Amino acid sequence: MATNRTFTMLKPDSVEKGYIGAILEKINAAGFRIVAMKMTHMTTADAQEFYAVHNERPFYGELVEYMTRGPIVAAILEKENAVDDFRALIGATNPADAAEGTIRKLYAASMGENAVHGSDSDENAAIEGFFHFSGRDQF
Ligand code: ATP
Ligand code: MG
Repeated sequence: MATNRTFTMLKPDSVEKGYIGAILEKINAAGFRIVAMKMTHMTTADAQEFYAVHNERPFYGELVEYMTRGPIVAAILEKENAVDDFRALIGATNPADAAEGTIRKLYAASMGENAVHGSDSDENAAIEGFFHFSGRDQF
């Protein structure tokens, strides 16, 4: 299978709790190459746009509050089968349902504060990477 890319964010709870290093270690150990990475702080407009697909859902306001309350780490990752393998590495949206050893099982507190984001398709990986990294970034 061709090498391809996914996009991730270590969400504000991961940064607050000091889990950046531990989570990046899991990502590297699973065979992902970090091709772009930065710490940034999403504005309300950024979070509303990033999660626009959920704007009719009852948790949307809470999600936007959560994603903007502190800095995140955004990264583009490369690996064969990147999108699916990364979703497997992070585990289910609700950490209570996440498999043993997954990032959400280890580091997420709840469905609403679930430590990491992972793109759900190749198309969204490209859109989300473009959202966070400008065309001037070299990678
Ligand atoms: P992400 O897109 O962040 O990787 P996901 O794809 O596993 O997560 P989505 O269904 O896309 O899950 O939901 C986006 C985010 O919205 C979740 O990661 C979580 O933070 C929040 N969320 C989803 N469902 C709920 C819910 N029922 N209650 C509270 N927050 C929720
Ligand atoms: Mg999602």
